[in-house]
Amino acid sequence: MQESNDDKRTSQELEGGALLIKCADCGCLVSKGIRHVLCEDPNCCCQDLPIASDT
Ligand SMILES: [Zn+2]
Ligand SMILES: [Zn+2]
Repeated sequence: MQESNDDKRTSQELEGGALLIKCADCGCLVSKGIRHVLCEDPNCCCQDLPIASDT
């Protein structure tokens, strides 16, 4: 048995309605140019983006 896959799984909403977007290249979850979830990719292409301080 399997839950139906949602096409919009690569994005999800933060509190306040900000949209988290998953970077297609590395996997970071980014919202408005700020990383909220970091990937473990050593070649992360989002390294230049600031990291959200709230968790
Ligand atoms: Zn990354
Ligand atoms: Zn990236």
